[in-house]
Amino acid sequence: MAENINHLHKITFGWDITYVCNYRCPYCTVWDQPTKLNLTVEEWIGAWERVRRKYGRCYIYMSGGEPSRYPDFYNLVRALTRLHTVDVCTNLSWDVRRLVPAVGNDVLRVAASFHPSFARFEEFFEKAVYVKDYLPSRPEGAAVYYVASRAQIPEMAGYRERFARGGLALVPLPVVEDMDIGNDEREKRLIEELSPNKNDPRQKLEFQLKELSPQGKLCRAGHHYAMIRGDGSVDRCSVYKDKQVGNFLDEDFELFDGPRVCAQSWCPYESQWLV
Ligand code: SF4
Repeated sequence: MAENINHLHKITFGWDITYVCNYRCPYCTVWDQPTKLNLTVEEWIGAWERVRRKYGRCYIYMSGGEPSRYPDFYNLVRALTRLHTVDVCTNLSWDVRRLVPAVGNDVLRVAASFHPSFARFEEFFEKAVYVKDYLPSRPEGAAVYYVASRAQIPEMAGYRERFARGGLALVPLPVVEDMDIGNDEREKRLIEELSPNKNDPRQKLEFQLKELSPQGKLCRAGHHYAMIRGDGSVDRCSVYKDKQVGNFLDEDFELFDGPRVCAQSWCPYESQWLV
Protein backbone atom coordinates (compact mmCIF):
# COMPACT_ATOMS: atom_id res chain seq x y z
CA MET A 1 0.00 0.00 0.00
CA ALA A 2 1.46 3.40 -0.97
CA GLU A 3 1.85 6.16 1.63
CA ASN A 4 -0.36 9.25 1.48
CA ILE A 5 1.55 11.93 -0.40
CA ASN A 6 -0.70 14.99 -0.29
CA HIS A 7 1.43 16.59 2.44
CA LEU A 8 4.44 16.60 0.09
CA HIS A 9 2.74 19.29 -2.01
CA LYS A 10 2.53 22.88 -0.86
CA ILE A 11 -0.70 23.68 -2.72
CA THR A 12 -3.78 21.51 -3.25
CA PHE A 13 -6.78 22.13 -5.50
CA GLY A 14 -10.21 20.54 -5.67
CA TRP A 15 -11.43 20.63 -9.27
CA ASP A 16 -14.93 19.90 -10.58
CA ILE A 17 -13.88 19.07 -14.14
CA THR A 18 -17.43 18.10 -15.15
CA TYR A 19 -20.82 17.75 -13.48
CA VAL A 20 -21.79 14.92 -15.81
CA CYS A 21 -22.16 11.55 -14.11
CA ASN A 22 -23.20 8.12 -15.36
CA TYR A 23 -24.86 7.39 -11.97
CA ARG A 24 -27.92 9.03 -10.40
CA CYS A 25 -27.33 8.34 -6.71
CA PRO A 26 -30.32 9.39 -4.59
CA TYR A 27 -28.13 11.34 -2.09
CA CYS A 28 -26.44 13.40 -4.80
CA THR A 29 -27.80 16.18 -6.99
CA VAL A 30 -24.54 17.21 -8.66
CA TRP A 31 -25.39 15.27 -11.85
CA ASP A 32 -28.38 17.60 -12.20
CA GLN A 33 -26.15 20.64 -12.74
CA PRO A 34 -25.05 21.81 -16.18
CA THR A 35 -21.29 21.82 -16.87
CA LYS A 36 -20.70 25.37 -18.03
CA LEU A 37 -17.15 25.00 -19.35
CA ASN A 38 -16.17 22.41 -21.92
CA LEU A 39 -12.50 23.14 -22.56
CA THR A 40 -10.14 20.92 -24.54
CA VAL A 41 -7.19 19.13 -22.95
CA GLU A 42 -4.84 21.77 -24.46
CA GLU A 43 -6.86 24.64 -22.98
CA TRP A 44 -6.89 23.08 -19.51
CA ILE A 45 -3.21 22.23 -19.69
CA GLY A 46 -2.45 25.87 -20.59
CA ALA A 47 -4.11 27.02 -17.37
CA TRP A 48 -2.43 24.29 -15.29
CA GLU A 49 0.96 25.23 -16.76
CA ARG A 50 0.47 28.78 -15.44
CA VAL A 51 -0.28 27.32 -12.01
CA ARG A 52 2.81 25.11 -12.22
CA ARG A 53 5.01 28.15 -12.98
CA LYS A 54 3.53 30.04 -10.02
CA TYR A 55 3.16 27.33 -7.37
CA GLY A 56 5.22 24.33 -8.49
CA ARG A 57 3.79 20.80 -8.60
CA CYS A 58 0.36 20.88 -6.93
CA TYR A 59 -1.95 18.12 -5.68
CA ILE A 60 -5.25 18.09 -7.60
CA TYR A 61 -8.41 16.32 -6.43
CA MET A 62 -10.15 15.89 -9.78
CA SER A 63 -13.82 15.53 -9.01
CA GLY A 64 -17.28 16.28 -10.38
CA GLY A 65 -19.70 14.69 -11.29
CA GLU A 66 -17.67 11.73 -12.41
CA PRO A 67 -14.31 12.96 -13.84
CA SER A 68 -14.03 10.04 -16.26
CA ARG A 69 -17.07 11.41 -18.12
CA TYR A 70 -14.88 14.26 -19.38
CA PRO A 71 -14.63 13.29 -23.08
CA ASP A 72 -10.81 13.15 -23.22
CA PHE A 73 -10.29 11.92 -19.65
CA TYR A 74 -7.36 9.52 -20.24
CA ASN A 75 -5.35 12.03 -22.29
CA LEU A 76 -6.11 14.80 -19.80
CA VAL A 77 -4.85 12.73 -16.86
CA ARG A 78 -1.73 11.64 -18.75
CA ALA A 79 -0.89 15.25 -19.70
CA LEU A 80 -1.74 16.68 -16.30
CA THR A 81 0.36 14.19 -14.33
CA ARG A 82 3.45 15.55 -16.11
CA LEU A 83 2.82 18.85 -14.30
CA HIS A 84 0.93 18.00 -11.13
CA THR A 85 -0.15 15.06 -8.97
CA VAL A 86 -3.72 14.04 -9.78
CA ASP A 87 -6.10 12.28 -7.40
CA VAL A 88 -9.23 11.14 -9.26
CA CYS A 89 -12.36 11.17 -7.06
CA THR A 90 -14.36 8.53 -8.86
CA ASN A 91 -16.96 5.79 -8.88
CA LEU A 92 -14.38 3.56 -10.68
CA SER A 93 -16.72 2.86 -13.61
CA TRP A 94 -13.88 3.56 -16.10
CA ASP A 95 -11.18 1.26 -17.45
CA VAL A 96 -8.53 1.58 -14.72
CA ARG A 97 -6.05 -0.49 -16.76
CA ARG A 98 -5.74 2.35 -19.28
CA LEU A 99 -3.88 4.41 -16.65
CA VAL A 100 -2.69 1.98 -13.97
CA PRO A 101 0.18 1.05 -13.75
CA ALA A 102 1.39 3.06 -16.82
CA VAL A 103 1.12 6.27 -14.76
CA GLY A 104 2.91 5.74 -11.44
CA ASN A 105 1.34 6.21 -8.02
CA ASP A 106 3.82 9.00 -7.26
CA VAL A 107 1.80 11.28 -9.61
CA LEU A 108 -1.60 9.57 -9.91
CA ARG A 109 -3.87 8.64 -7.00
CA VAL A 110 -7.45 7.37 -6.84
CA ALA A 111 -10.15 8.31 -4.31
CA ALA A 112 -12.79 5.68 -5.01
CA SER A 113 -16.39 5.71 -3.76
CA PHE A 114 -18.67 2.70 -3.81
CA HIS A 115 -22.26 3.55 -4.75
CA PRO A 116 -24.26 0.30 -4.43
CA SER A 117 -27.42 1.66 -6.07
CA PHE A 118 -25.49 1.75 -9.37
CA ALA A 119 -22.26 -0.25 -8.97
CA ARG A 120 -22.05 -4.03 -8.70
CA PHE A 121 -19.96 -4.97 -5.66
CA GLU A 122 -17.84 -7.60 -7.43
CA GLU A 123 -16.90 -5.28 -10.28
CA PHE A 124 -16.04 -2.36 -7.98
CA PHE A 125 -14.14 -4.64 -5.58
CA GLU A 126 -12.01 -6.14 -8.37
CA LYS A 127 -11.02 -2.67 -9.64
CA ALA A 128 -10.41 -1.29 -6.14
CA VAL A 129 -8.04 -4.18 -5.37
CA TYR A 130 -6.32 -3.62 -8.73
CA VAL A 131 -5.68 0.08 -7.88
CA LYS A 132 -4.95 -0.58 -4.19
CA ASP A 133 -1.52 1.04 -4.36
CA TYR A 134 -3.19 4.23 -5.62
CA LEU A 135 -5.84 4.48 -2.85
CA PRO A 136 -5.44 6.59 0.33
CA SER A 137 -3.83 4.57 3.06
CA ARG A 138 -5.42 4.04 6.48
CA PRO A 139 -4.13 1.88 9.35
CA GLU A 140 -6.91 -0.63 8.49
CA GLY A 141 -6.01 -0.82 4.80
CA ALA A 142 -6.45 1.11 1.55
CA ALA A 143 -9.53 3.33 1.83
CA VAL A 144 -12.69 3.27 -0.26
CA TYR A 145 -15.52 5.70 0.53
CA TYR A 146 -19.18 4.95 1.18
CA VAL A 147 -22.01 7.42 1.70
CA ALA A 148 -23.74 6.62 5.01
CA SER A 149 -27.23 7.59 3.84
CA ARG A 150 -30.25 6.24 5.75
CA ALA A 151 -30.93 3.64 3.05
CA GLN A 152 -27.27 2.51 2.88
CA ILE A 153 -26.46 2.35 6.61
CA PRO A 154 -27.99 -1.11 7.18
CA GLU A 155 -25.57 -2.61 4.61
CA MET A 156 -22.53 -0.69 5.85
CA ALA A 157 -21.07 -3.25 8.30
CA GLY A 158 -21.54 -6.08 5.79
CA TYR A 159 -19.75 -4.18 3.02
CA ARG A 160 -17.00 -3.25 5.46
CA GLU A 161 -16.31 -6.92 6.10
CA ARG A 162 -16.37 -7.83 2.42
CA PHE A 163 -13.95 -5.00 1.53
CA ALA A 164 -11.65 -6.01 4.41
CA ARG A 165 -11.13 -9.40 2.72
CA GLY A 166 -9.30 -7.51 -0.05
CA GLY A 167 -7.27 -5.37 2.38
CA LEU A 168 -9.62 -2.41 1.83
CA ALA A 169 -10.97 -0.13 4.59
CA LEU A 170 -14.49 1.23 4.11
CA VAL A 171 -14.64 4.90 5.17
CA PRO A 172 -18.23 6.07 5.81
CA LEU A 173 -19.06 9.65 4.83
CA PRO A 174 -21.96 11.53 6.43
CA VAL A 175 -24.76 12.43 4.06
CA VAL A 176 -25.32 16.08 3.09
CA GLU A 177 -28.90 17.39 2.80
CA ASP A 178 -29.62 21.05 1.98
CA MET A 179 -26.06 22.00 2.95
CA ASP A 180 -26.42 20.42 6.39
CA ILE A 181 -25.65 17.05 7.88
CA GLY A 182 -28.45 14.63 7.01
CA ASN A 183 -27.66 11.96 9.65
CA ASP A 184 -29.47 11.71 13.00
CA GLU A 185 -27.68 10.94 16.31
CA ARG A 186 -28.04 7.18 16.00
CA GLU A 187 -26.60 7.20 12.49
CA LYS A 188 -23.75 9.45 13.59
CA ARG A 189 -22.77 6.92 16.27
CA LEU A 190 -22.76 4.14 13.65
CA ILE A 191 -20.52 6.22 11.39
CA GLU A 192 -18.24 6.91 14.35
CA GLU A 193 -18.00 3.23 15.21
CA LEU A 194 -16.89 2.23 11.72
CA SER A 195 -14.85 5.25 10.68
CA PRO A 196 -11.06 4.84 10.46
CA ASN A 197 -10.96 8.63 11.08
CA LYS A 198 -12.06 8.24 14.72
CA ASN A 199 -8.54 8.57 16.17
CA ASP A 200 -7.43 11.36 13.85
CA PRO A 201 -5.46 13.83 15.99
CA ARG A 202 -6.89 16.71 13.92
CA GLN A 203 -10.43 15.59 14.83
CA LYS A 204 -11.58 15.25 11.24
CA LEU A 205 -14.48 13.02 12.23
CA GLU A 206 -15.77 15.49 14.85
CA PHE A 207 -15.81 18.25 12.23
CA GLN A 208 -17.48 15.90 9.73
CA LEU A 209 -20.22 14.97 12.18
CA LYS A 210 -20.76 18.64 13.11
CA GLU A 211 -19.71 18.07 16.71
CA LEU A 212 -17.03 20.74 16.26
CA SER A 213 -17.58 24.03 14.45
CA PRO A 214 -14.88 25.76 12.37
CA GLN A 215 -16.51 29.19 12.87
CA GLY A 216 -14.02 31.88 13.92
CA LYS A 217 -10.99 29.65 13.37
CA LEU A 218 -8.13 30.51 11.03
CA CYS A 219 -8.05 28.29 7.94
CA ARG A 220 -5.64 27.89 5.03
CA ALA A 221 -8.47 27.15 2.58
CA GLY A 222 -8.01 29.82 -0.09
CA HIS A 223 -4.28 30.05 0.70
CA HIS A 224 -2.85 26.51 0.47
CA TYR A 225 -6.01 24.97 -0.94
CA ALA A 226 -8.89 26.08 -3.19
CA MET A 227 -11.87 24.62 -4.99
CA ILE A 228 -12.24 25.17 -8.75
CA ARG A 229 -15.87 25.00 -9.86
CA GLY A 230 -17.24 23.75 -13.17
CA ASP A 231 -17.52 27.34 -14.48
CA GLY A 232 -13.88 28.19 -13.65
CA SER A 233 -14.73 30.26 -10.56
CA VAL A 234 -12.70 29.46 -7.44
CA ASP A 235 -13.94 29.16 -3.85
CA ARG A 236 -11.96 28.75 -0.65
CA CYS A 237 -13.39 25.24 -0.15
CA SER A 238 -16.44 23.19 -1.09
CA VAL A 239 -18.64 24.92 1.54
CA TYR A 240 -18.02 28.50 0.36
CA LYS A 241 -19.88 29.42 -2.81
CA ASP A 242 -18.97 33.11 -3.21
CA LYS A 243 -16.15 32.92 -5.80
CA GLN A 244 -13.88 34.87 -3.41
CA VAL A 245 -10.66 33.43 -4.80
CA GLY A 246 -11.33 34.61 -8.38
CA ASN A 247 -11.35 32.77 -11.68
CA PHE A 248 -8.95 29.96 -12.46
CA LEU A 249 -8.71 30.90 -16.14
CA ASP A 250 -7.58 34.49 -15.51
CA GLU A 251 -3.93 35.05 -16.42
CA ASP A 252 -3.33 36.71 -13.05
CA PHE A 253 -5.21 34.13 -10.94
CA GLU A 254 -3.68 33.74 -7.50
CA LEU A 255 -4.47 32.35 -4.08
CA PHE A 256 -4.88 34.37 -0.86
CA ASP A 257 -1.62 35.58 0.65
CA GLY A 258 -2.36 34.03 4.06
CA PRO A 259 -4.92 32.07 6.11
CA ARG A 260 -8.31 33.67 6.83
CA VAL A 261 -11.02 33.23 9.43
CA CYS A 262 -13.76 30.74 8.63
CA ALA A 263 -17.37 31.96 8.94
CA GLN A 264 -19.04 28.57 8.37
CA SER A 265 -20.71 26.45 11.03
CA TRP A 266 -19.96 23.08 9.40
CA CYS A 267 -16.85 21.74 7.72
CA PRO A 268 -17.77 18.32 6.30
CA TYR A 269 -14.73 17.58 4.12
CA GLU A 270 -11.73 19.89 4.36
CA SER A 271 -11.03 20.58 8.06
CA GLN A 272 -7.41 19.50 7.56
CA TRP A 273 -6.79 23.05 6.29
CA LEU A 274 -7.55 24.63 9.66
CA VAL A 275 -4.44 26.26 11.11
S1 SF4 B 1 -12.69 25.45 8.13
FE1 SF4 B 1 -13.65 24.18 6.56
S2 SF4 B 1 -15.48 25.35 5.93
FE2 SF4 B 1 -14.11 26.77 6.98
S3 SF4 B 1 -12.86 27.69 5.33
FE3 SF4 B 1 -11.72 25.96 6.18
S4 SF4 B 1 -12.22 24.26 4.84
FE4 SF4 B 1 -13.80 25.84 4.51
